[in-house]
Amino acid sequence: MSVQVVSAAASTKVPEVELKDLSPPDPEPQLGMSSAAVAAMAPPAGAGDPETPALAPAAERPPAPGPATFSPAAAPPAGKVPQASAMKRSDPHHQHQRHRDGGEALVSPDGTVTEAPRTVKKQIQFADQKQEFNKRPTKIGRRSLSRSISQSSTDSYSSAASYTDSSDDETSPRDKQQKNSKGSGDFCVKNIKQAEFGRREIEIAEQEMPALMALRKRAQGEKPLAGAKIVGCTHITAQTAVLMETLSALGAQCRWAACNIYSTLNEVAAALAESGFPVFAWKGESEDDFWWCIDRCVNVEGWQPNMILDDGGDLTHWIYKKYPNMFKKIKGIVEESVTGVHRLYQLSKAGKLCVPAMNVNDSVTKQKFDNLYCCRESILDGLKRTTDMMFGGKQVVVCGYGEVGKGCCAALKAMGSIVYVTEIDPICALQACMDGFRLVKLNEVIRQVDIVITCTGNKNVVTREHLDRMKNSCIVCNMGHSNTEIDVASLRTPELTWERVRSQVDHVIWPDGKRIVLLAEGRLLNLSCSTVPTFVLSITATTQALALIELYNAPEGRYKQDVYLLPKKMDEYVASLHLPTFDAHLTELTDEQAKYLGLNKNGPFKPNYYR
Ligand code: NAD
Repeated sequence: MSVQVVSAAASTKVPEVELKDLSPPDPEPQLGMSSAAVAAMAPPAGAGDPETPALAPAAERPPAPGPATFSPAAAPPAGKVPQASAMKRSDPHHQHQRHRDGGEALVSPDGTVTEAPRTVKKQIQFADQKQEFNKRPTKIGRRSLSRSISQSSTDSYSSAASYTDSSDDETSPRDKQQKNSKGSGDFCVKNIKQAEFGRREIEIAEQEMPALMALRKRAQGEKPLAGAKIVGCTHITAQTAVLMETLSALGAQCRWAACNIYSTLNEVAAALAESGFPVFAWKGESEDDFWWCIDRCVNVEGWQPNMILDDGGDLTHWIYKKYPNMFKKIKGIVEESVTGVHRLYQLSKAGKLCVPAMNVNDSVTKQKFDNLYCCRESILDGLKRTTDMMFGGKQVVVCGYGEVGKGCCAALKAMGSIVYVTEIDPICALQACMDGFRLVKLNEVIRQVDIVITCTGNKNVVTREHLDRMKNSCIVCNMGHSNTEIDVASLRTPELTWERVRSQVDHVIWPDGKRIVLLAEGRLLNLSCSTVPTFVLSITATTQALALIELYNAPEGRYKQDVYLLPKKMDEYVASLHLPTFDAHLTELTDEQAKYLGLNKNGPFKPNYYR
């Protein structure tokens, strides 16, 4: 395996960035694939892709790809990790997301009763430049932080359940002197003594993350990330631990903070710290803690990151804000979330993005698996944990029949529910009809349904008028990105009584005694109230790992200071690494068939714009 280390320093400019403007970028044109993408995806001679003609003028093409950056010997079926492509986004669902007002999705799953957010958050509040991180939040102060720091928590998913958080220890981890068994104190976690329990959680996650384990195996002796210094800011869960340990096995050094103040699994953080990872995270951080942890990851004597793995953009923006010179050494950013990707496109549009960035969020494997399969698996879990309800025979209306809606409908139908669908798009509406669902307007069924689920990414899909007309005990919840889909604010009126009956479950009671059951205050149900499948996270984590390898090893000039999408071939590769789990046997194209279809036998099998 050959690794080419490219210095980006020469071409790096240090930007001056106004970080508080988070309005989304203008919609990108459909099929706006750049010439770089066309060139990157151009098949070898004799195997032209009929859908992707190599029209790019030579001058616009990127330099010829260097040696494969990471070529696992027995990769089925694609033999090597392809070069990523600079492709404009054309996924229509992002347009909905751009119009979101911002909401907070992840709240404490530990039973803490928190205030419903009354205001929408439009911009991230950065800690003051001069902040000395010396404020110690009180217990009450910590509790009052019922939100995550940024919207990042609303668009990436983790198994946020905590297993061992029963500790009464209220001492801030920042006030503790802890060392791991090797004597290192370069970490800050809740309790290093929980490491053994966390290790077991990591081992369980490994069973469901076959692709990362395969990458580790195939990289034995070869270290495609040798010399990489990755600073990460993601949910710190067992799945993330598997990713971090994979990156380490591939040669990288990592320092990590949490992207959300509530999602850290303390025992997992402890296990990572015990294994020598500088991890700065615990469940229930204050806002001040949150920035302090990020700062501890980057502001280190004798260590400077050269790669960023971010989920939500907070880490990236912290470096832009506080340590812009660091970008001279940074070769690339890999970003997972919708929010973080929006920020990157903004920076790019303003000409202020100073290193290449990979948009992992829009890769097909993320969209198809996170949205469809993750929701198909977790909708029932979220509903069951909060309400103990039986699904058979219940009438459910699902608003929106995109990927998330399709997943929810399929799961509920399989359980014997009677499912209605609302849609605005005739194509998705027709799909719903042909899948056997009754397409209705919400008004038509609102009086009779037992459950209302929103999955549109839109706002005010369920209004106060709808809520007024619902029958007694109707359950209302949201699976979309932000808490704008249900007009929860309209329920905060004096004539209605709110009763918290369980963690994440409110009864809203009308003067005549009618009550509706509102779950997670209208935030993402599955993220707030259930776990999501490790296997889905494995797919996303593998994409992140490959994106890091690609950006780190790319020869100079392959990637400019722009946001890149992963090409179909890399998506296909990630999928192929997960096939052995199912003992799935992929059919190979014959030479004749490949020629007939105009495809390379090793892929990509779909055009770049396929979604
Ligand atoms: P999508 O764009 O594929 O589907 C949304 C659908 O809603 C579209 O078909 C659209 O036509 C329809 N729609 C829009 N406004 C509507 C309205 N007023 N009434 C009825 N239908 C309407 O998007 P998706 O991939 O299904 O994602 C939907 C939302 O779920 C997004 O906000 C996304 O970020 C979020 N998401 C949630 C999870 C999760 O785990 N809960 C996972 C991935 C994505």
